[in-house]
This record gives sequence, structure tokens and C-alpha cells, in this order.
Amino acid sequence: MNIASVIVDVAVRQTDRPFDYSIPDMWREVIQPGMRVIVPFGPRHVQGFVLSVKEEPESRKLKPIVEPMDIVPVLNEELLMLADWLTKESLCFKISALQVMLPAAMKAKYSKHIRTTGEAPLSPQMQTFLNGREEAPWEEASEAGLLPDVRKGVKDGSLDVIYAVRSKGRKKTVRMVKCVLPEAKLQEVIQSMPKNAIKQKEALQTFCGKEGEWLPLHETGISSAVARAIIQKEYVTEKQEEVYRDPLAGRTFTPDQPLLLTDIQQKAINPILEKIHEAAAQPFLLHGVTGSGKTEIYLQSISEVLAKGKEAIVLVPEISLTPQMTDRFKKRFGSEVAVLHSGLSTGEKYDEWRKISRKEVKVVVGARSAVFAPFENIGLIIIDEEHETSYKQEENPRYHARDVAIRRAQFYSCPVILGSATPSLESYARAQKGVYTLLTLDQRVNDRPLPTVDIIDMREELREGNRSMFSRDLFEKIKDRIEKGEQAVLFLNKRGYSSFIMCRDCGFVPECPNCDVSMTYHRHRHQLKCHYCGHEDTAPDKCPECQSEHIRHFGTGTQKVEEELLKLLPEARIIRMDVDTTGTKGAHERLLKQFGNKEADILLGTQMIAKGLDFPDITLVGVLSADTMLHLPDFRASEKTFQLLTQVSGRAGRHQLPGEVVIQTYTPEHYSIQLAADQHYGAFYEQEMMTRKMGGYPPFYYLALITVSHEEAIVASAEAAKIVANIKPELSPAAVILGPVASPISRINNRYRWQCLIKYKREPKLGETLKHVLEHYAKQGKSNGLMVSVDIHPYVL
Ligand code: ADP
Ligand code: ZN
Ligand code: ZN
Repeated sequence: MNIASVIVDVAVRQTDRPFDYSIPDMWREVIQPGMRVIVPFGPRHVQGFVLSVKEEPESRKLKPIVEPMDIVPVLNEELLMLADWLTKESLCFKISALQVMLPAAMKAKYSKHIRTTGEAPLSPQMQTFLNGREEAPWEEASEAGLLPDVRKGVKDGSLDVIYAVRSKGRKKTVRMVKCVLPEAKLQEVIQSMPKNAIKQKEALQTFCGKEGEWLPLHETGISSAVARAIIQKEYVTEKQEEVYRDPLAGRTFTPDQPLLLTDIQQKAINPILEKIHEAAAQPFLLHGVTGSGKTEIYLQSISEVLAKGKEAIVLVPEISLTPQMTDRFKKRFGSEVAVLHSGLSTGEKYDEWRKISRKEVKVVVGARSAVFAPFENIGLIIIDEEHETSYKQEENPRYHARDVAIRRAQFYSCPVILGSATPSLESYARAQKGVYTLLTLDQRVNDRPLPTVDIIDMREELREGNRSMFSRDLFEKIKDRIEKGEQAVLFLNKRGYSSFIMCRDCGFVPECPNCDVSMTYHRHRHQLKCHYCGHEDTAPDKCPECQSEHIRHFGTGTQKVEEELLKLLPEARIIRMDVDTTGTKGAHERLLKQFGNKEADILLGTQMIAKGLDFPDITLVGVLSADTMLHLPDFRASEKTFQLLTQVSGRAGRHQLPGEVVIQTYTPEHYSIQLAADQHYGAFYEQEMMTRKMGGYPPFYYLALITVSHEEAIVASAEAAKIVANIKPELSPAAVILGPVASPISRINNRYRWQCLIKYKREPKLGETLKHVLEHYAKQGKSNGLMVSVDIHPYVL
């Protein structure tokens, strides 16, 4: 008998154990490893992934696979192996490692049905309701008020409740029409039509001179009623044709040519090209100041890979997947490029994924999860802005794209390029050790100078009587740019993107009743929403604490900056980019286009404008508040501040005109601000490494974070303490366990959260120990209300 070993998708009581199912004879030739199948599991039908198939001489009693969900495997052998590795490295369950590799559209939806068993007679009510049907949706029975009868039916064995997996037709199709008459005959038919059949006549005229050609119905302008008529008369025939939803529809790309590399670029690219030719796995850290031509190096390396008939994956942070960035790849490689990011609809993502899977493209440019692109002949993986924390996924599987890229590159024997102007400390330390090969671009292309940077002490401004959020220096410079017709970027360093409501009289901030966080304000609906649990409320017009009417939206602060700037400079044309102005699809792109067309003098925004902008007339960058991030309880706070300031400064003077940067701060003496102003990465690295060494943080120590949550704080903390007591004997004395302590956000969705942090250097038994902890709690399911998660190499503590 033929047997498939299947990992099933059951939300609770997760397990990595595959279950055996028999393969019905009719599917024998079809079912292969890497395919999704529908299998029975208890009373339900669930989705599963086939890991392997085998033939056994003896037959045993196994449930059969219901049906395959795919015609060809969706995961190849390499990706199945990668899932094994990911499961082990990130301590997730195998099902989530398998699912993360596929686009969301391919996640099956369940629906609940009732079905007759034929083993006992139906009640008269059910008989009437089902009216000869074998099956009916649960909701329908519920609406008919028949749930008590359903329950009775299940008890007496006449009914089953089944959970069916629906993988809906997610392909997009268009109606195509074709005239079946020869040209001469068509003319004849048109002539002989009655006078009042104007519409049909017009419709047939569309086909004149297009003998044998299929036309998309929606482009012909023929209404569906008229189409039906001429199809019925058998003048015209129709079919459905599958089309891809094109996320870049309507945009044109003028092809461009490779630039002649500068000597510095040539020196950096040579070792990469060498490894591409040798087909050797080697990670490179490309450390290049902003505007040093890293992207051109990526492009030319990819050309080389394509010439060898291989494929390339390019990862860029979600936030810098601006049209500007994707354009550069589209211009060079045209229709060879697929794009994957969260701005696409589920359908668009699915279509892009299938283009990759069908090998219709050779390059994918995408955010984190594009690292799983189902290519089978990878010649290069690039991670741009490798220091970005968004490359770490904060839910299961908690993987870092960098680790996955290096793993896949080992399999395909190909190089990896990690590019950044401000490499993560982890990567730079590895380059220092020789694990990665360090390549440096220490100058901007064509000797364009790096911008000059001024640090302004805002305390000094205050002492001089300037209470404005603009220092006198910055204000003068903005005025000057407007007069000269140049452009400025103003950056407000804000934590996250959230905007909230605060009472100006008593300081009251509405918080989520279920979580210990402030509610986020959604302007267009005048609503408050909790981003952790989804709780919604209308925004109050009066402060519930002190009844004051001065309770208002604080936004990201950008709105306030805009108001003040307009008061000072009424003629300034400002484009504001923040959560409020970029909420709708395509808004981000439209605003940048306006700025690029010089429809504004000033681009004002938050983190989302820090990266990837490349406009020739930006000659001034102002940072309004450099230190807001510096004081967060995060061991990476200094690193993040340094990176952000360096990135923003890099937006200035990238072309002919030289650039200037003004950084306003209340802590001008802090090394991350000083050294960012000097663009002195090396000195920052040295200083920060010392801090990390003293604090016992990465890259000197590894971290593992255990989080326990429960509805009662005392249960969560006691259980966390129990876990600590259990794992301590398994670790060496060198490992440090901190906590348990309450998590920084101590309650989410009415669950209290406690955490402990393990700092370690080498603990061969740690992974296994923690996996046991996870399995222990997964087995208990939800019965005792405890939830435990483990994050290896966490980014958010
Ligand atoms: P980075 O990615 O390091 O920030 P870019 O690749 O965006 O740098 O290059 C900065 C600017 O220099 C871009 O406008 C780019 O077109 C230009 N550039 C890059 N390489 C060359 C070259 N070899 N010759 C001329 N211009 C170049
Ligand atoms: Zn108040
Ligand atoms: Zn909440």
C-alpha cells in the first residue's frame, strides 16, 4: 500500500509528529512530497503537507487522504529541508515553518458543515431542512434555529459535523471573446441584421479585421447582455482566461544600461563576481556610506547571475520598498522581476508568487518573507539595509531573514551580499572575525561630498528664549532653500507610527481596557483602536477624567510641526507623510511622486521617509528631535539612533548640489549623535561594542526570551518562576537567567505577561530544553489557560 507522511494543520495541541495516511489508488501517481493535501483528523477535515511517500508491502489500517490541494508540489525538496532547519533553529512547530513559505492566499479556510451519516434516521425537522441534500452549511442550520436538532442528530448518529477545507479559486480570470465567422461571412451577417439591432451590430463590427483573435471582453466595450445575445446566435464564442493581477500595472519603465563602475565600486564587486563564477557560498558584508553606489553593485552582480541562467533574491526593508527602489530593478531587468511586499493585495501576492514558482521571472525584489521565494537555481541573495530590525519576524516562526538567506545560499553554493551604511553590530563583528568578507565603499560616487552636519543644542535655544520647535539655524536654512527653489526633508524621530489622544489639561490618555497600551487614533473614522487586541471605541470629545474639552489628537507630531511651519513660512509648500496621510493604498507613492515633481519644497515625515529617497534637489535635511528613541528601554537604542540619523542624513546632497544636515537634540554629547554627525561608523562600532560587552548583550552573548501569559498575573509569574527553576539545572553556570519580571507591555488582551531572559555563549542543550518546555505547554492546550512562547535571538525585549 502507498502511504504519505503528513504534517497536519491543527491549531491547538501542535506537534511535529507526522501522521501516516493511505494514498487512494487514484491519487497514487499524483501525490508527492511538498504538496498540500486534505486529510481527515478526528471529526474534521484539515490541511496538511506531505513530507514523504513510501510503499509498504503489508497493508495496515489507515485513514485515506481525501484529496490533494495541488497538482504539483508547492514546496521543493530544498524548502522542505529548510523547514526542518527552521523548526530546529527557531523552536517553532513544523507546520508554521511550512506555512511561512507560502503566500497567505494559499492558507486554507475552514468551513463547518453538517452531513448525514445514513446510519440512523433523521428527525423530521432535519429531513425537511436538508430536503434531500447530504450536506448543508452550519450557518444555515443555525439561522433556521435547528442547532438543538443538530446536536440531537450527532448524539443519535444520524448527523456528523465536518470541518471542510476550502481552497477557493483564487485565480483571476477574464472573459475572452472570439468571432467564429470568417471575415466575409461576418460582413454579410452585419449587413443582414435588422435595423433595430444597433448594439449587436456595433458589437460585431468590433470583430471586423480580427479574424480568429481572442479579445478581452471588458476591453471591447460590449455589454454582457449583448455578448450573451451574439454568443447565443453562435457568431461569437467565449472562454475564461487566467490573468495575473499586476501590482505595477499602469507604470512604465524606461530600460536603463549598467553604469561604468568607479574604481572603488569595481574593487568591491570583483570578489563577489568571483564567487558567482566559482559558484561558492560566501557571505559578503558590503559596508558603503549612503550614496556610495551599493545598488549599482547589486544590479551588476545580478546581471552576472542571470547570464549564468540562475536566479536572484533581493530583500529590502518593507518601509523602503518605495517605487523608487523597485523602479531601479524593473528598469534594468524588466519583466524578469517579481515584487513581493505587504502593500500588495492577497491576490497580487499570490500571482507574483506563482510567477516565481513557474520560473516566469528570475529576480524577486521583496520584503522579509521573499527570502522563501521558491526558486530552484539561486545564484545570489542580497539583503539591502541588512541592519533593519524588520528582517526579524516577531511571531512564529521567529526567524531572521539573514540566517535563512545564508542557509539557502549554502545549499545553492552562491554568495550573499549584506549591504548597509550602518551594519548591525552582529554582522560587523562577524566581518571582523572573517566569517563574512568585508567590502568597503567609503566614498560617495563621483566624489560627491558627504553632507556637512551641524548639531544644535536645543537647551541652548531655550536659554536664548527660542521656544519654537525650530532652532534659529534650521529655520534660516529652510527659508534659504525655499528662496533658492531647492528642497528640504524634515524628519521627526518618533517611536513607532502610532498616534494617540491626550487631554491637555490633566494628561489623560485613553488606554485599551484589555491591554496596557494606549489606543491608536484613526482619524478618518474618528475611532480609537488597540493594535494588540483589536478593541475599538469612538474617540471621546470630552476628557472622561476631568471633563475638559481640550482632549485632542496628538498625531505623530508631524501635524503640529506642519502648523507651526506654516505660521512661520506661509508660502512654504509642504508634503506631510505620516500614518494619517499614507493610510490609503498608493498614497505613499503619490506623495513621493509629487515631491519628485517639485510640487513641494518640504517633505515632512516620520521613519517612513528615512530610507531610499533619492531626489536631486534635496540639499537640506533637518532632524527635529534626535533623541526621542535614545531613552527607550532597549539595549539597541543607541545603535538604532545612530543608524537612523546616518540614514536620514544620507538623503541630502546625493546629486550635483551639496547637502547640509541639521540635527536638533537635547543630548548633543551622546556618542551615537556625535558619531552619526561625523559619519564615523568605525568609532561608533568600537564604543558600542564596549557597552555591549559590559552589559552582556549581543554580539558577545546570545539571548533567549521566554514569555508566559495568563489571565491572572500571579499564575503567569509563578509559572515563569517554575520554568526558570526547571531549566536552570540544564544550563552551564556561565549562563545568566534574568527574571522572571513583568514584560514591558505587561498585559495584552487581558492576559498578563511575564518574561525571563537567558544570556548565554554556548549552551548545546538549551534548544532541546526549551523545545521540551514548549511541547509541554502545547500538549496541555488551552485547558489551564497558560501560553508560553520562546524567542531565540529576540529583537524586542
Ligand atoms: P547607495 O545604494 O549606496 O545609497 P546608489 O546606488 O543609490 O547608492 O547610488 C547613489 C547615486 O549614484 C545614484 O543616483 C546612482 O545612480 C549613482 N551612481 C551609482 N554608481 C554610479 C556610477 N558608477 N557612475 C555614475 N553614477 C553612479
Ligand atoms: Zn482631562
Ligand atoms: Zn487591547
